[in-house]
Amino acid sequence: MKERILLIGPQGSGKSTQASLLAEFLRIQVISTGDILRDLSQSDTEQGRSIKKILSEGNLVDDGIISQIVQERLAKPDCENGFIMDGYPRTLNQISCFDPQFDLVICLKLSDEEAGRRLLRRNRADDTPEAIAQRLQLYHGETDPIIDYYRQKGLLSEIDGLGTIEQVQQRIREVLDGKNQK
Ligand code: AMP
Repeated sequence: MKERILLIGPQGSGKSTQASLLAEFLRIQVISTGDILRDLSQSDTEQGRSIKKILSEGNLVDDGIISQIVQERLAKPDCENGFIMDGYPRTLNQISCFDPQFDLVICLKLSDEEAGRRLLRRNRADDTPEAIAQRLQLYHGETDPIIDYYRQKGLLSEIDGLGTIEQVQQRIREVLDGKNQK
């Protein structure tokens, strides 16, 4: 069965770990726009340099450009049986540029306090309390409209992001089981 899944969650929610585990289980690819853009930013071309600048400034890549990159990536044969998307769409306008036609949108829920606590534990230089608060605020501004959009379309499942990696993965699989029984 073809599964086109979008995984959404704040930094610290363990989203990429959960995406990889699920991808392995379903034998499909994770498509991470952050990874694709970081790769592209390494190339010594005009596009590479422009993406590098945008990423280093912490801005978003232009909607038209990212939607085309995603559209081309999803057209490759390894996405034929489905994919797990991490990082797209980030604006409602991106959906109008290119809509990946998700079958299911899973949101890992974590309170800002818990997300903040987890990020502080990483002890990374850019993980100061101020920077963390700023990123969480950006996350909500960016993601809440997208979550609302998919909720209205009836595609959204929200999952408690608290617990062990295995517990959260189990909850995700239960959502999938529930959907396939419908
Ligand atoms: P991430 O690894 O998902 O945090 O993405 C890293 C960076 O890539 C972001 O800060 C953005 O600059 C850029 N990026 C990733 N996905 C998108 C997207 N869908 N639209 C625009 N920019 C993106």
